Amino acid sequence: MSAQLIDGHALSAHWRAEIAQRARRLNERGHTPGLAVILVGDDAASAVYVRNKVRACEASGIRSLLQTFPASLTQAELLARIAALNADPTVHGILVQMPLPRHIDPHKVIESISIHKDVDGYSVQSAGELMAGLPGLRPCTPWGCMKLIESTGQAIAGRHAVVIGRSNTVGKPMALLLLQAHATVTLCHSGTADLAAHTRQADIVVVATGRPDTLRADMVKPGAVVIDVGINRREDGKLCGDVDFEGVRQVAGWITPVPGGVGPMTIAMLLANTLQAAEQAKA
Ligand code: NAP
Repeated sequence: MSAQLIDGHALSAHWRAEIAQRARRLNERGHTPGLAVILVGDDAASAVYVRNKVRACEASGIRSLLQTFPASLTQAELLARIAALNADPTVHGILVQMPLPRHIDPHKVIESISIHKDVDGYSVQSAGELMAGLPGLRPCTPWGCMKLIESTGQAIAGRHAVVIGRSNTVGKPMALLLLQAHATVTLCHSGTADLAAHTRQADIVVVATGRPDTLRADMVKPGAVVIDVGINRREDGKLCGDVDFEGVRQVAGWITPVPGGVGPMTIAMLLANTLQAAEQAKA
């Protein structure tokens, strides 16, 4: 039996419609939600990501302020720019597109963003809030994965979830969000011995390694929910995820495609975080 597709485009359209409605309500009270997006350098992929985020803002009634700078921008200049945006009451979210040129320390940049405007949820304080189970802005990709898992209607509480990948931006926050939803969580990485022994026991598997075919059909429990975060380009130029989609869909119960799964939900959650920040600023 073939797995049901979890349609990230459809779910994100649903979220975006609701966000647009909330943005309209704020607008009617004279407050326009605003997101500042900073792009440094001329990385082609980053330019595409930024363009998609700006377009998504416009379609949802969120004002976007795109600021592009040459790769020669100094760290001090970037920090000064962020300080100005922190102080600007019309800006509720600040996103600095990664990667940054090598001479700029990404940690310093992330930590310079006001906690109230940290819509990527990457700062140490945002991570601490998630860790402690306190309210706050959650990292967009794992937050979007939670919404995709919830959309299947399958219980999360009491189920065994395996996350493959332990980055600060995806794997670790993903594991914490699943834990918060009362799943029993196993966090795997490149040093995990016998990865398949873990994934075969999982009711939910989230794969975020950046390696095609990390999860194959023989590693999956029949009926499992499989979320593929990866974005890779094969030799023939086609996009693929970290999951052997054609093989795994024969075994899993639900699966996200790449493209069209996690990607659209990441953007929807960025808009949701910006809205949340704007609503809190006006509360
Ligand atoms: P990352 O920082 O490179 O982390 C990759 C993680 O995967 C590391 O923890 C690494 O383990 C682990 N890993 C690598 N190979 C493995 C293997 N064979 N078995 C088990 N674990 C393995 O990557 P990331 O930023 O988390 O991103 C992961 C993927 O998601 C990338 O393809 C990225 O492009 C994609 N992504 C997509 C979105 C979206 O919106 N769709 C957003 C963010 C990221 P170690 O820690 O031991 O090295």
